[in-house]
Amino acid sequence: MSKILHRTIHANLPLAVGGRGIEMFDADGKAYIDASGGAAVSCIGHGHPEVLAALHAQLDKLAYAHTGFFTTDIAERLADRLVADSPDGIDYVYLVSGGSEAMEAALKMARQYFVEKGEGRRRHIIARHQSYHGNTLGALAAGGNEWRRAQFRPLLVETHHVAPCYAYRGRLPAESEHQYGQRVANQLEAKILELGPHEVIAFVAETVVGATAGAVPPVNGYFKKIREICDRYGVLLILDEVMCGTGRTGTMHAFEQEGIVPDIMAIAKGLGGGYQPIGAVMLGRHIYDAFASGSGFFQHGHTYMGHSMAAAAGLAVQDIIREHRLLDNVREMGELLNRRLHERFDNHHHVGDIRGRGLFRAIEIVADRSDKSPFDPACKLNVAVKREAMARGLMVYPMGGTIDGVRGDHVLLAPPFIVNAGQVDTIVERLGDALDASIATRARPVIDESIVM
Ligand SMILES: *Cc1c(COP(=O)(O)O)cnc(C)c1O
Repeated sequence: MSKILHRTIHANLPLAVGGRGIEMFDADGKAYIDASGGAAVSCIGHGHPEVLAALHAQLDKLAYAHTGFFTTDIAERLADRLVADSPDGIDYVYLVSGGSEAMEAALKMARQYFVEKGEGRRRHIIARHQSYHGNTLGALAAGGNEWRRAQFRPLLVETHHVAPCYAYRGRLPAESEHQYGQRVANQLEAKILELGPHEVIAFVAETVVGATAGAVPPVNGYFKKIREICDRYGVLLILDEVMCGTGRTGTMHAFEQEGIVPDIMAIAKGLGGGYQPIGAVMLGRHIYDAFASGSGFFQHGHTYMGHSMAAAAGLAVQDIIREHRLLDNVREMGELLNRRLHERFDNHHHVGDIRGRGLFRAIEIVADRSDKSPFDPACKLNVAVKREAMARGLMVYPMGGTIDGVRGDHVLLAPPFIVNAGQVDTIVERLGDALDASIATRARPVIDESIVM
């Protein structure tokens, strides 16, 4: 009997014993195509020899140095690389061990920034419904996914939420996409005015929404309007690119496709590609300068921040993405994946929307595409899709609660950046079969919930 408190207690998880390229292997020798990179983590696949060599070399030199005593060459080089690969306005890096830590640090950094500037009365965080920013209490409070928040609500700090930019569900028939984006962006201004313009710290959003709603990209003009509103009231813009960032959508940062730059941002999953736990906050010079010319001290920190092994993995993964020009492949294979998804599902009665960018794509499953009605959540259709996909040697990332934290189902795809055309075909083929099999059996109660998220 397992002594691990697994995510799902009665889990009957396969035993992972290896991985190579885009495949993972279990103890029975079965191979799975990792078409979701776990949770959009394994961006260069498994067992990459260049990362392994970099990790071996770092381990032989130094595994750990506490950041209160030393800096290290490897952490400095990673920070240099991340800033060099970012547009102007993203000038400094704060290294942590994952996405939730990055978001916690981002929120505290935003608050202390205003304290440093003598604007200590700023205290409100505004975020969006149906977003996910991590599972620690601060990040969970900022997140807007009701199902994840519900039982912890008494412990959560006060946060405020406005509508997401989710055109498939939110756009009115009479509106253009652009008009819809302006309308939902204006909800931010209304909320700032309601709370008091000098009392708001920051607006927090995932540039492309990940796990909770399924690769939902913003409509054209939405983030330009958001940036304008933030600037008008001196509110910081914090972008959470933990899932959609570091190349996943075809550019190093997803916000580069929006023509804006955030004040503070979080990256993590694809930063180390799963080879080590690592995340980072990236920030503009104005944020850094407020600390530098103020207290000279960011009142935060973790034991493992800037960890040498994590930095070595992050640097190796980012070097490989650049040297092998993998973002070209993300864009090219992303377009192919999109085309194949449309070929397979455009006439599918139970696929309402196909969306995403680069190698970050999703299908939204509906009971009836003509009125977009979802399946009864009791069917746990997303659980069935995951099980059927695993049975066919395919890892995808299905999730329920797409619409409001309770209703709706989607399947997220986030294959490694090294995926090729033949593998894209196989992924879509197996996904189509898994979806059809799940829908065919959905009337039956789902007894085996062993692979629920
Ligand atoms: C996964 C995720 C997080 C949390 O990251 P962890 O490494 O799991 O703590 C935060 N924000 C977004 C958008 C994520 O997808």
